[in-house]
Amino acid sequence: MTTEYTKEFWHAEAKKLKFRTNHLINGAWVPSEDGTTFDSINPATGEVIAKVASGKSADIDKAVASARAAFKSGVWSMMAPRARLAVIEKFSALIAENAVEFALLDCLDMGKPVMDMMNIDIPESVKNLKFMAETADKVHGSLTSTDPQVLHYILRQPMGVVALITPWNYPLMMAAWKLGPALISGNSVVLKPAEQAPLSCALLGQLFLDAGGPPGVLNVVQGLGENAGKALGLHPGVDKIGFTGSTEVGKLLMIYAGQSNMKRVTTECGGKTPQIVFADYDNLDKAVTSAVYGIYGNMGEMCNAGSRILVQRPIYEDFIKRFKALATSNMVVGDPLDPTTTIGPLVTTEQQDRVLGYIEIGKQEGATLALGGGRGMNSGAYVEPTLFTDVTSTMRIAQEEIFGPVGTVIPFDTEDEALAIANDSLYGLAAAVWTNDLKIAHRFGRDLESGFVWVNTFDVGDMTSIWGGYKQSGNGRDTCVEALSQYTQTKSVWIDLN
Ligand code: NAD
Repeated sequence: MTTEYTKEFWHAEAKKLKFRTNHLINGAWVPSEDGTTFDSINPATGEVIAKVASGKSADIDKAVASARAAFKSGVWSMMAPRARLAVIEKFSALIAENAVEFALLDCLDMGKPVMDMMNIDIPESVKNLKFMAETADKVHGSLTSTDPQVLHYILRQPMGVVALITPWNYPLMMAAWKLGPALISGNSVVLKPAEQAPLSCALLGQLFLDAGGPPGVLNVVQGLGENAGKALGLHPGVDKIGFTGSTEVGKLLMIYAGQSNMKRVTTECGGKTPQIVFADYDNLDKAVTSAVYGIYGNMGEMCNAGSRILVQRPIYEDFIKRFKALATSNMVVGDPLDPTTTIGPLVTTEQQDRVLGYIEIGKQEGATLALGGGRGMNSGAYVEPTLFTDVTSTMRIAQEEIFGPVGTVIPFDTEDEALAIANDSLYGLAAAVWTNDLKIAHRFGRDLESGFVWVNTFDVGDMTSIWGGYKQSGNGRDTCVEALSQYTQTKSVWIDLN
């Protein structure tokens, strides 16, 4: 019998939820050494849903020691690749089996519409882990064409203890993206989820054990960034940090690495993605739809939110008219447990204040408020879909990552002007160009300063594509075979045959 995902179903299931609120260290669930906790708050209601163990240096020390001991024992790092593959495949299957619980955890923790979890975050997490599992015995070192008197080969080895520090906007999915390559290549891991949405990562830790993952190989420490995150960044026993989050914290982690043991740091950071729509493009409705969902999807809390919409002047007014009509009809602000809701609350009231603050800045800068601008609901951390038009590239709302449902529309006349505006950003995560002109498409593919360029589409990709930034959007690469190189190191073995 197929389950009907009604609002009543989700509310009833939410009442049955039990939360894992402690740290997972060496296969056991333990409170913080100092016994302190922090609140996990449902941003739709303001209700405290759980009191979560607040990890500090002492807890990080224990987790790193557990990861190191597991690594040295070889229980995972020396396991036959196909045996690791079986564990990670089982792990991904268990995520799919526990979809309802994952959907509820991220929905209650950070306000994501529950059906977004079912349709996007969960299938994407499962797909990613399965793909990474399959690389277990397919990505390897090499034998080189060296002098016949020498046998030379290159080993690809795990880094050792990897700390993964993840953000709150896709709590399950960002952790899954990093766990796959880190674990399949034989590392032991300490995962530190974002304090705003920690609960789904705790379930991940349990499912890894249930899948047959040895204790100590995946540890999960909850805690605030400035405590648990910083302690990982400075820890001499951590060999590598895989980070997704803000550019500001990404830079801090590079500093911590320099101040401690020069641990490797890869970062996936912020963005200010341009969508460039040329007047010659013959399917304006498709571009408009992508613009609407590109900025309002996940409440605009997306690293690649299409927050700068560049529109060529002959279609400027028409584009804005269609955008407003579609956003008004399709964007439904409401209870994230209601399957018809497309816009839930922002993650916290702090984030709500920040986004409303940017809306005030936009007004003061002289941009035209063409849509929204308010809270959209009487209670909860909501901000309604908002659009500024007549924006110029120097405005703060066009330069800074707002991380909320606030789009900016910037008119342009020529190809050169569009490219200059698109590249006028400290970020370079992703970009899209809409045109029927093949030459413009290729020139933009070449010249846009970003790690991903879409042509006549937006926010699509699979495990063959690479996810990662140019410029201050970070130096990491997720979702592809190349991601494995971030969690392995190479070694030459040179044998004299004489
Ligand atoms: P954040 O940088 O505030 O926090 C990310 C993680 O870092 C959290 O776990 C946090 O606890 C930790 N942290 C905070 N301060 C720390 C410190 N001093 N030392 C060590 N760790 C610390 O980011 P966020 O608000 O959780 O997430 C939003 C940001 O993430 C946005 O900028 C968004 O663009 C970015 N993001 C990027 C990608 C990508 O793939 N490029 C994906 C998702 C999110």
